[in-house]
Amino acid sequence: MKSLLMRCRECRRYTLRRDKCPYCGGELKVPHPPRYSPHDRYVVYRLKAKLVGEQP
Ligand SMILES: [Zn+2]
Repeated sequence: MKSLLMRCRECRRYTLRRDKCPYCGGELKVPHPPRYSPHDRYVVYRLKAKLVGEQP
């Protein structure tokens, strides 16, 4: 999944533009994805809940 946000290499501001930075005209790049995705957290949480539920 691609991020809608782009980040300027020069001033490090975020923008929705894809061609160039609206603030300084610098080059844009896709920011790094977050280290943990909320989706994965839910999977772990549900897994734990299931294990607890199966204990006698
Ligand atoms: Zn900029």
